[in-house]
Amino acid sequence: MKTEGRQTRPVTAANESMPQSFSGNIGLSQKEDLIFEIGTPRRTGVDLPEPKGTQSRLGGMERQGEIGLPGLTEPQTLRHYVRLSQKNYAIDLGVYPLGSCTMKHNPRLNEKVARMPGFADVHPLQPVQTVQGALEVMSELSDWLITMTNMPAVALTPKAGAHGELCGMMAIRARLDADGQTARRRVLVPESAHGTNPATAVQCGFTVDEIPANAKGRVDMDALRAKLSERSDDIAGIMLTNPNTCGLFENDIIEIADLIHKAGGYFYCDGANFNALVGRVRPGDLGVDAMHINLHKTFSTPHGGGGPGSGPTVLSDALKDFAPVPFVVKTQDGFDLIENADGEAAQSFGRMCVFHGNMGMYTRALSYMMSHGADGLKQATEDAVLNANYVQASLSDVMTPAFDGYCMHEALFDDRFLKDTGVETLDFAKAMIDEGYHPMTMYFPLVVHGAMLIEPTESESKGELDRFIGSMRSLAERAKSGDAESFKAAPVHAPMRRLDETQAARKPVLRWTPPEDTAQAAE
Ligand SMILES: *Cc1c(COP(=O)(O)O)cnc(C)c1O
Repeated sequence: MKTEGRQTRPVTAANESMPQSFSGNIGLSQKEDLIFEIGTPRRTGVDLPEPKGTQSRLGGMERQGEIGLPGLTEPQTLRHYVRLSQKNYAIDLGVYPLGSCTMKHNPRLNEKVARMPGFADVHPLQPVQTVQGALEVMSELSDWLITMTNMPAVALTPKAGAHGELCGMMAIRARLDADGQTARRRVLVPESAHGTNPATAVQCGFTVDEIPANAKGRVDMDALRAKLSERSDDIAGIMLTNPNTCGLFENDIIEIADLIHKAGGYFYCDGANFNALVGRVRPGDLGVDAMHINLHKTFSTPHGGGGPGSGPTVLSDALKDFAPVPFVVKTQDGFDLIENADGEAAQSFGRMCVFHGNMGMYTRALSYMMSHGADGLKQATEDAVLNANYVQASLSDVMTPAFDGYCMHEALFDDRFLKDTGVETLDFAKAMIDEGYHPMTMYFPLVVHGAMLIEPTESESKGELDRFIGSMRSLAERAKSGDAESFKAAPVHAPMRRLDETQAARKPVLRWTPPEDTAQAAE
């Protein structure tokens, strides 16, 4: 059982020719087993006297056997976690080009502010008079988001982008229901949409109707018009990402908004890629009714396994009365929280999380905004777009950009440049690991064959980008030179090589089982 999910190195021709160490270490990177494999229940890092005179108050419900936690000494514990930390790839270590993820540097000032005791130590159940500063942060953050988007209201509580989508679509549904429009249940979703979009629509009881992309990677307007003229009395709205997941601005976005509104539907915009627009384009000017903003992408803050998310959702006049509780309001004496869906929040669709959202993210995002200023936020957008175009232009002679023309904040390539080389997108990505880079987003968006989506963000210097581009060029040239075999064997320098990803997804081993149990189970 124990080894089932943890594959050892597959023996391939290239692998045999690689010198393997006796220890399993690679260079100075130490091999490390699971904590349950190195710990034993009786070992401990502290020496405490047996507690005397304690009386159980569990009424005979005490645990009978060992709890089975691994016991380690202090140096063992330290080494275990330091070794694991060194296997992590992080934005603090190098370029993290995952497309549609905006893996940018998180300024340390944000962390310092979020850790100030007045912010870090507040409790969600404290009386509001004692947390006026925290409420002011929420209120001020809302003001910045409202200004940047030119939308009348924002719901702060959603805890991720997908949660923000849920918020926006629940508001749309609440509005439709309030208007007696209960037959409007069809949501149009472009083919290139992030997977969370159709999932959200279905979760809210809508049906999804896909709109194809055109040859330029944008919504096929003829197909959209045809769908709406065929039937429109069942249209609830559209969910559209802008810039879309091909890294392109939807040029017809105003016409799309008009068409949807004329059909009686609402326009949900997936704003996870807002990093390409801040300070340049305001979604409120485009006819958007609801849009989530990923604080953990556009406004830094650690994410991607490194921290929680936050997906504030801006709402139009048509939807703002349906916003979830709680929310902050300004009063004569300061700030107050509207906690219940009654009184001025009578039309609210309810509550999305137990308390008030991810406070630490609000503090980090506001710190990011205030330290950049309006001019700095705009420049970050421009630099993000410039960096992506620099990557696209520097690689377009050796790789194949999926679409002609400039991109927004991310550069999308397809696998035409790998044709007849025997190397596939997956192999190329694995070879990037040996070059010391976390691979870009692969095979997404689905509308492009063998997609490779690179989002460098504004926080990479030209020097870092040049090194990354150099590696990508060298890999592309190596693939074309007929060296498919080494690509198939990659990565050779990683602690784990090619895992059986299908097996891992279909039969995940989520719990470590002691070897004895396995032996017993086999009998
Ligand atoms: C990241 C992303 C989401 C989802 O955001 P989460 O915080 O991961 O839930 C949705 N849409 C797009 C386009 C994204 O890039």
